[in-house]
Order: sequence, then structure tokens, then C-alpha cells
Amino acid sequence: MNVLVINAGSSSLKYQLMDPDTGIVLAKGLCERIGIDGKFTYKPQVEGKETLKAVDVAMPTHSEAIQAVLNALVDPENGVIASMKEIDAVGHRVVHGGEAFNKSVRITGEVMNAIEDCIPLAPLHNPANITGIRACEKVMPGVPMVAVFDTAFHQTMPAKAFTYALPYEYYKNDKVRRYGFHGTSHKYVTSRAAAMLGKPAAELKIITCHLGNGSSVTAVDGGKSVDTSMGFTPLAGLPMGTRSGDLDAGILQYLMNKYQLNIDEMLNILNKKSGVQGVSGVSSDFRDLEDAAEKGNEQAALAVDMFNYGVKKLIGAYAAAMGRVDAIVFTAGVGENSVGQRLDIASGLEFMGVKMDAAANNCRGKEAFISAADSKVKVLLIPTDEELVIARDTAALCK
Ligand code: AMP
Repeated sequence: MNVLVINAGSSSLKYQLMDPDTGIVLAKGLCERIGIDGKFTYKPQVEGKETLKAVDVAMPTHSEAIQAVLNALVDPENGVIASMKEIDAVGHRVVHGGEAFNKSVRITGEVMNAIEDCIPLAPLHNPANITGIRACEKVMPGVPMVAVFDTAFHQTMPAKAFTYALPYEYYKNDKVRRYGFHGTSHKYVTSRAAAMLGKPAAELKIITCHLGNGSSVTAVDGGKSVDTSMGFTPLAGLPMGTRSGDLDAGILQYLMNKYQLNIDEMLNILNKKSGVQGVSGVSSDFRDLEDAAEKGNEQAALAVDMFNYGVKKLIGAYAAAMGRVDAIVFTAGVGENSVGQRLDIASGLEFMGVKMDAAANNCRGKEAFISAADSKVKVLLIPTDEELVIARDTAALCK
């Protein structure tokens, strides 16, 4: 079986064609600048086939982008399948499923209406995801499609974890609550951690740290998310590349009054000019921050320190919430690659049974135990694979 995995943004679209049973990727790539000048990248993963690097392809809408993907996949020279008939199903990443979806679903008219109902909760993301789905319906009519939601894994959180201390009618009438994001990633690394530990996820208490440009930490008790650091939107929780994470709402009033900012300008600052970029004044990329810190840039060092301290505090909080921790998992760009940040985050947690192995931790981008053999709490490095979860959920619903 072959599943086409689509992650549609407002002017971009990432794709992967894979066999969900083996996890083997046949081809992947990216459509960028949709509606502008159209850049198309295609990377076949089959020997002897050639990569197309950012070639110009007219893509006035997402439909032309999907058509370009299909053309490349069936191209007689560098394609990886003989015809479109070899695409059995399409799996779409959808950012927000609100309270309507606690798992992946086959896309129907009713499901599309429910995804549309979630637009006010994710005004930047859901419309783009919907556009991607509609484009596939147009270009690949009749091929079954599945929606996989970033929020679904966190729908198991209890009310005490998801309720904000606001007048209750804002939850009842307006659905203002913690939703959490990166659910597909937290779910994937949870299942891999259980496999590595040789126990069912149902018997484990795990803290999963998805640390990348966007970051979130989740408490996973018995395989279910019971708390997570992102909130009503992905702006909450840790400081991120350019996002502020949690802050005192009183700061908004103070800054908006002082600098005559409207709420859109303020939110733009919190989403795009804050986080480690804002504090360091150097970059949103942790590699640049490490370099700058090594050269003596104190603000860059402070930004990294703040981030690591934030992750450490969440680990402590979620350990208390679950009453025990069997494993801590690091994943995503920073979690998979930054040897120093993992060490910094885990140091000082010896009191709760965390003991790192510096030599084992000195690795990148592959599954590994990075705690000492006698560490009570195991620390794991697990590269995330959201596309594989999307492909597998899609296959399970379309077989
Ligand atoms: P992601 O959003 O998961 O793709 O993660 C992207 C972030 O991972 C980048 O902004 C970098 O800051 C970080 N990253 C990637 N490689 C490294 C590395 N070798 N060391 C430190 N950070 C890294």
C-alpha cells in the first residue's frame, strides 16, 4: 500500500509518498511560494532516480501544486510509481481538531464541516489544511483521505489540566481551553519509547520533550496525554524560536498602552519577534545561539539558558503531576541534535533519579538510551516521524 502524506501551509505544501507497513519512503519534497512564483522540490528515495532542486513550476493554487507532485511521482524517468492508481490513500496533517476529534478520521463532508468549525481556533493553519484537502479532492477524485490532527492526542487531558482559570462560560460557550499541539510527534515517540523499554505504553509514565523551532513538553501517563505545555494556541508554554511562550497577561496592557500598539501588533511581537530570537537579538536558530554564546554573547547564552531552564521546570512539574517518571524522551531539531542542551536540561535532576551518560549522550539523530545504565529514570533520544504516524493512521482507516 502507498500513502501520500500532505502537510499543507498557506503558501507551501510538504509531501511524502510512503509504504506505511514498512515505513519506506519512496519520494518526498516541498512545494513553496504557491500563489507567488512556485518553487518545486522533489527527492526520490529510490536509487538511480534524480532529485529536482527548487525548480520553477507555475502554482497559482494548491491544486497545481498537488498536480506537480503527482506528475513528478509518475514521471517516466524519475518517478517512483507507474501511475496514480498506485496511490491508495492520502493522509493530511490538520493542525486543529478542537474537541470534535480525539483521533484520526476518514474525511467526509461532515468531517470537513467540523474542520471548518475549528478555523476560529487556528485561523492561520486550518484554512491552509482545508485548501490542501480540497486540492487533493479536485486532482485525485475518489482516492480515500484521512485527517490527522495535531490536537487529537491531547484530548485525553483531564479538565483540571485543560481548564483556564477564566469565567467558566468562556469554556462552555467559546471553547477556550488548553488543546495542546505536536500531538502526532508526542504520540509517535511515546510508542517508540515503549518499544525501546520493552513494556506496553499503558504501564509507563513518560515525559516527552519535543524541542525544535516550536517546542512543547507532554506528560504521558499510561500512553495518554495528561498535560502539555502548549495551550489554546501554539504560543503557550516554553519560549521558542520566535514565540514568547507563557507570560504575564498584564505585560500586554502595559506595553500596548506605553507604545500605542493594537492587539494584532502585540501578537505579532509575541509570535514572531520574541522567544530566543527576541532575548538574544541574534537568531531563532539554536545552532547560531550556541556559536554566539561560545564567542561570549551573553544575551545568546541567556536565551539558551532560559529555554533549558523552562524545559527542566516542566519535567519537574510533570513528574509531580504523574507521581513517577519511567522515561524522559528528547525529540525534534534541538532534542535530537543538541548534545549540550540535553545535558544541561537533565543536569540537576539527579534527585529524581535521572543520571545521564555523557558518552552515550554524545550522539545525534538516532534512537539511543542516553542515561547511565543505573539511572532510575531512562533518558531516550528518539527522532520523531510525524509522517509515519499520518501514513499509518491513514492506512488503518482505509484498508
Ligand atoms: P525543528 O523545528 O524540529 O525542525 O527544529 C529546528 C531547530 O532545531 C533549529 O531551529 C535549530 O535551532 C535546531 N537544531 C537543529 N540542529 C541542531 C544542532 N545540531 N544543534 C542545536 N540545535 C539544532
